[in-house]
Amino acid sequence: MHSTLFIQSPPVLGNQYRDDSFLQSYLRRKLPAAMLGDIESSLSELGALAGGELYQLQLRDRLNEPTLTQWDAWGNRIDHIEVSPLWQRAADIAASSGLIAIPYERQQGRYSRIHQFAAVYLFHPSSDVYTCPLAMTDGAARTLSVSGNQGLIARAVSKLTSRNPAEAWTSGQWMTEATGGSDVGASLTRAVRDDTGQWRLYGKKWFTSAITSQMALTLARPEGNGPGGSGLAMFYVETHDDDGRLNGIRVERLKDKLGTRKVPTAELTLDGARAELVGDTRHGTRNIEPMLTVTRAWNSVTSVAFMRRALMLARSYASQRRAFGAKLGELPLHVDTLAGLEAETRGAFLLAFELAELMGLQEAGELDDRQRALLRLITPIAKLLTARQAVAVVSECIEAFGGAGYVEDTGLPALLRDTQVLPIWEGTTNVLALDAVLRGELSVGLPALQARIQQGIAVTADDRLAAAGKPALTAIEHVVHWLSHNNDPRRLQANARRLAMTLGRALELALLIEHAAASSDPGHGAAARRFAAAPVDLLTDINSEDSAFLLE
Ligand SMILES: Cc1cc2nc3c(=O)[nH]c(=O)nc-3n(C[C@H](O)[C@H](O)[C@H](O)COP(=O)(O)OP(=O)(O)OC[C@H]3O[C@@H](n4cnc5c(N)ncnc54)[C@H](O)[C@@H]3O)c2cc1C
Repeated sequence: MHSTLFIQSPPVLGNQYRDDSFLQSYLRRKLPAAMLGDIESSLSELGALAGGELYQLQLRDRLNEPTLTQWDAWGNRIDHIEVSPLWQRAADIAASSGLIAIPYERQQGRYSRIHQFAAVYLFHPSSDVYTCPLAMTDGAARTLSVSGNQGLIARAVSKLTSRNPAEAWTSGQWMTEATGGSDVGASLTRAVRDDTGQWRLYGKKWFTSAITSQMALTLARPEGNGPGGSGLAMFYVETHDDDGRLNGIRVERLKDKLGTRKVPTAELTLDGARAELVGDTRHGTRNIEPMLTVTRAWNSVTSVAFMRRALMLARSYASQRRAFGAKLGELPLHVDTLAGLEAETRGAFLLAFELAELMGLQEAGELDDRQRALLRLITPIAKLLTARQAVAVVSECIEAFGGAGYVEDTGLPALLRDTQVLPIWEGTTNVLALDAVLRGELSVGLPALQARIQQGIAVTADDRLAAAGKPALTAIEHVVHWLSHNNDPRRLQANARRLAMTLGRALELALLIEHAAASSDPGHGAAARRFAAAPVDLLTDINSEDSAFLLE
């Protein structure tokens, strides 16, 4: 006699472009039809790779991690890093699909960033976070492009943006030192000119995630400069010399991390690394800002991509797994749970792509003043809000698998661990909230944001949708009113996170309504109403005196 064997079916993924009706509806709304027709087959190919070959490789490759070999058999220090097979494959796909090239070729004009980020969104969840070096590569290409340094532009930008995998470079961004990742102005790395006039860097970089890259942009303090960010300068460093030897760089170790375990994140010693000044000998933190704008946009898009992947898997599972005599996908509370996550994901998507759209307009030279103010304000807000939404959504999706979500060889726990990095790197939630609220841009950014929210909601003639937009309008009015009555800097700091989140959630809701108003699919209206039912206004004005008990 055989006992009845019950085998659970794993979740399945199909073509991640074809199965993503929300992405398709967004692209149909934003792009001219002929343009979408031109790029759709390449997006579909990426979607097929992401849901097929790459996803399967990712599951098989689960236990492979990068290795660091510091010495060769003969005692030479080599510091060689071998990355996982999936990373090697991802590098080829990224270059040949033009994941960096697209916005520099600008074939789609002002829509090029939307095109690029749609491709990144499809690729990211199956790439084992290969998007980390890609984000920095895009950031470096942009930073160099606007630097005016023609020598470095000629030397590096065409390699950073190449579609040829054999020629394409990636770039690191070495900012964080043990003294601080947020407080970068405290950096201790020194820049010294040697006898030949060559700049050489001395110091330790505490987190560097792309040491396998060919170059990096980094910060160092030229001797004699004063303290703080303005005393730092931005430098260009090639990691290897023409003979393939490391350029005055030692890789001390790879970090043993909670997640992003395929990303080789190293601690480096710079011991006379030859470097080239990108611009002036000061204002490094200001000069590297284009890098941060780009990497924060990548962070926002990859946050949404992780949410989408987790939901794709959870919905697939819900269509098969049975409990209490029904499929999970037929149980009202399970459906309610996933619908809430879907609404969050769509709101986050529209915010991330609003940022992409504004970047595209900026790079095409078509940004007006209001949009410029909006871009500046929503860059930190989109990064911080989408990253926090991603952690919440992916965590809930793990629970939607029950115990299976907690089991390593399903591949699901890695998704949560990888997501957890998104609120940390490229500026933590608090640091970005302060960036949004304290840097003075709020005075011009806030009216622009308020106008954008009103514009998003005004387009609907549907009463239910208009009613759903109310929380966005009242939230932004609350923020404006609160700011006009609270100018104590400590109180502003203490509330900065709730304030920034409120602005972001209000904009997400307005964008959901705008999207629904432009579509005949009633699902979009339902998603907007569902989002509106969750808290939008988080500004509860907790006085910092009421947090003082923490320090008692
Ligand atoms: C996997 C991984 C890869 C990374 N790769 C790179 C890389 O390639 N290049 C690179 O340069 N860096 C990299 N980093 C570093 C990352 O950018 C920093 O860790 C991050 O910016 C935070 O800096 P920190 O670690 O010094 O934390 P801290 O700045 O010490 O922050 C600690 C806590 O204090 C809070 N905080 C700090 N200042 C304030 C404030 N003024 N008000 C309120 N709260 C505050 C923060 O929000 C945080 O919660 C990487 C990090 C990780 C985890």
